Amino acid sequence: MSKATTKDHIGVTGAGIVGVSTAIRLQRAGYTVTLIDKEGPAAGASYGNGGVLASCASIPVTVPGVIKKAPKLLFSKDGPLFLKYRYLPKLLPWLTKYLSYANTSDLHRIAAAIHGVVGDSLTEHQQLAKGTIAEKWIKPCDYLYMYEDRAAFEEDKIAWDLRESFGIEWTELKDKALGDYDPIFSGKFKYAANLKGHGRINDPGRYINDLATHFVDHGGKIEKSEITGFEIDNGKVQWLETNSGKLSFDQIAICTGAWSGPLAKALGVKVPLESERGYHVELWEPNMMPRATYMDAGGKYVITPMDGRIRLAGIVEFGGLKLEPSKKPFDLLLRNVKKTMPDLTWKHTETWMGHRPAPADSIPVIGRSPKAQNAWFAFGHQHIGLTSGPKTGRILSQMIDGSKSNLDLAQYSPMRFNPD
Ligand SMILES: Cc1cc2nc3c(=O)[nH]c(=O)nc-3n(C[C@H](O)[C@H](O)[C@H](O)COP(=O)(O)OP(=O)(O)OC[C@H]3O[C@@H](n4cnc5c(N)ncnc54)[C@H](O)[C@@H]3O)c2cc1C
Repeated sequence: MSKATTKDHIGVTGAGIVGVSTAIRLQRAGYTVTLIDKEGPAAGASYGNGGVLASCASIPVTVPGVIKKAPKLLFSKDGPLFLKYRYLPKLLPWLTKYLSYANTSDLHRIAAAIHGVVGDSLTEHQQLAKGTIAEKWIKPCDYLYMYEDRAAFEEDKIAWDLRESFGIEWTELKDKALGDYDPIFSGKFKYAANLKGHGRINDPGRYINDLATHFVDHGGKIEKSEITGFEIDNGKVQWLETNSGKLSFDQIAICTGAWSGPLAKALGVKVPLESERGYHVELWEPNMMPRATYMDAGGKYVITPMDGRIRLAGIVEFGGLKLEPSKKPFDLLLRNVKKTMPDLTWKHTETWMGHRPAPADSIPVIGRSPKAQNAWFAFGHQHIGLTSGPKTGRILSQMIDGSKSNLDLAQYSPMRFNPD
């Protein structure tokens, strides 16, 4: 296996938080780096996410019992799960595999792997952005999970027990104490877990664009092209095929989020990857701002104060990469906000839908191609990509550079779905 030298020119495909973080880390390690994106920086999920640096978010959706709860989440009027029914036949093989992980031993294994990339998120972001124009968008803050009552919190006990085992700490806020903490909520939530040491990004799109500007200011290049395939010879990618001609690099990294499946397959890796479509609604120029970042645990969406607006982001919809956004998730987010923050008013509303890259086992894919020794992957960060992007960039740049990591990297192996 050839080890990259400091002279190598590395092409990083995908300029979301994962690709931009990887590009900066490689640049700091002495490589010449070109970022390639079909649209430009922060065009995918990294633009419209909830902005939460959720170090506590190591628990996958597939907890034991999720199959029993799914019909209520899908069919009840205010359920946060949606499905484009015509997409169901395509979804079924992935869904079957996904649900097969909803057992206790897989939960513990998966949560430990995710914790490895989310646990120190705020510090990782601060280190990545330190001294750059992007630094201003990082805001350390509390992160509160809000429940209708203590009983609802207890229903999530399995998740909170796991968080505790990872050293995540929180304090309880009950009844009136929550209204005292943040008067924007009047009454709906009677119980909250307040997690310290968290953070948020005050505008994820502008943050990533500022990181990309920093990358260019330090000699990086950004190329607007869509990668369509690879020419592989002698166990190496010789050419990247794009919609605007061929590109050649010494090494390449695939960081194309939810669009990574076919590219990975062409490089010898079969990852069952789906889009978990998510939605946001922004309430611009509100008459009041939340004090911290909140997860409405029942509604499964976050409430994040951002520059000039409040962003409500969440919902899971299965419908693939091509079908149009649905209207119902936007209506649901707006109905929820009227219930939880009844005194809130705002000037105008903006909406967005994007694609969370979700491997069936919820563990990000980080590692080398079995087919081309100069090709690498970092994708599949499902609900936690903003949180874990900088750590992933560090891990992948260390792998390419041949340096050691304290983490057990086998758990992120791209080969874990390939039959022997
Ligand atoms: C509603 C919602 C809320 C979320 N909230 C949070 C949150 O609060 N905290 C958190 O940590 N995470 C959150 N997430 C998840 C997070 O946004 C994603 O995990 C993360 O953005 C994925 O980053 P990425 O760089 O892998 O992919 P993306 O940001 O999707 O970037 C992929 C890039 O690849 C490019 N691309 C794709 N195919 C090609 C090709 N063939 N050639 C060239 N370029 C290509 C795309 O244009 C895109 O720019 C949320 C997601 C959603 C949808």
